[in-house]
Amino acid sequence: SPPSPRPPELQLHDVFIAVKTTRAFHRSRLELLLDTWVSRTREQTFIFTDSLDEGLQERLGSHLVVTNCSAEHSHPALSCKMAAEFDAFLASGLRWFCHVDDDNYLNPRALLKLLKTFPWTRDVYIGRPSLNRPIHASEPQPNNRTRLVQFWFATGGAGFCINRKLALKMAPWASGPRFVDTSALIRLPDDCTVGYIVECKLGGHLQPSPLFHSHLETLQLLGAGQLPKQVTLSYGVFEGKLNVIKLHGPFSPEEDSSRFRSLHCLLYPDTPWCPQLVAR
Ligand code: UDP
Ligand code: MN
Repeated sequence: SPPSPRPPELQLHDVFIAVKTTRAFHRSRLELLLDTWVSRTREQTFIFTDSLDEGLQERLGSHLVVTNCSAEHSHPALSCKMAAEFDAFLASGLRWFCHVDDDNYLNPRALLKLLKTFPWTRDVYIGRPSLNRPIHASEPQPNNRTRLVQFWFATGGAGFCINRKLALKMAPWASGPRFVDTSALIRLPDDCTVGYIVECKLGGHLQPSPLFHSHLETLQLLGAGQLPKQVTLSYGVFEGKLNVIKLHGPFSPEEDSSRFRSLHCLLYPDTPWCPQLVAR
C-alpha cells in the first residue's frame, strides 16, 4: 500500500490529557490544577474521578468523567480509572495520551516540545522510570505454571505519554475490562501494568525521560532555571517534610505550599491572579 501521508505538525489540541483524582482530593488538590495549568489546556484535559461533585461538574462539564470505579487506594480501583482514561483516549481519536496524577503540574509548552521530537511513524511510551532496574512479575501460564517476566515502567505519579500508534496495539490487553484483568493477572498497580503491556506483550520499550517528576524524588534539587523546561512536576510530604520545588515568589510558602501558583505565574505572567508587573 502507498505510504500514509505525513500528519500536520503536532499541536496541543492533538494531545489527550487525563488527570486521575478521587473524591477526597477534589477540593484540596484539583482546584489548584484548575486554577493553574488546566486553565491553559481546558479543551484537551479530562478529569477522572469516582464521585459526583456538582461544583466540579459546573466548572468542567463533559471534561469531568465520573467513573464507576470505587474510591479506594486498591490496585483494582486505580486500574479501573486508568482503564477509563485509556478508553476515553481511544474514543477521542487524538494523537497522544498523557496521564498525570492530581498532584502533578503539567507544563503544556514543554510537553508539546517533547512530543514533537518523535517521528509519527514510531511507537512511543515515554516517562520517568520508576526504578533503576526492571521490575519482575510472574505471569500465570496454562496448567498452573508461571513465567517470570521483567520490564521497565514509568511512574504514574510523574506522568507518562503514549502515542496512538502504540495505544492501538495495546488495546487487546488494555481496552474495556481487559486493563483491570491484565493488572489482576500480574498483581501489580496500574502504572506497572502499562509497562508490562508495552514491553512484555508488544516488545516495545519505555523511553526514559528526565523531564517527568514525582514527589518520590527530591524536588528541591531542580535549579530554578530548569523548572520551565520540565514536562511535569509534583509536590508531597516525605518523612514529615514538604517535598516541593524551590522557587522564590511571587507567593509565599504559606500562601502557596505546593509552589504551583508561583510556578504558574512564572510560566504565564498574564494570568489575572498573578501579581502584575506594572510598566512605568
Ligand atoms: N487516588 C485515587 N484513589 C484513592 C487514592 C488516590 O484515585 O483512593 C489517586 C490520587 O488522586 C492521585 C493518585 O491516585 O492522582 C496517587 O495518589 P497519592 O498522590 O495520594 O498517592 P501516592 O501514590 O503518590 O503516594
Ligand atoms: Mn502522589
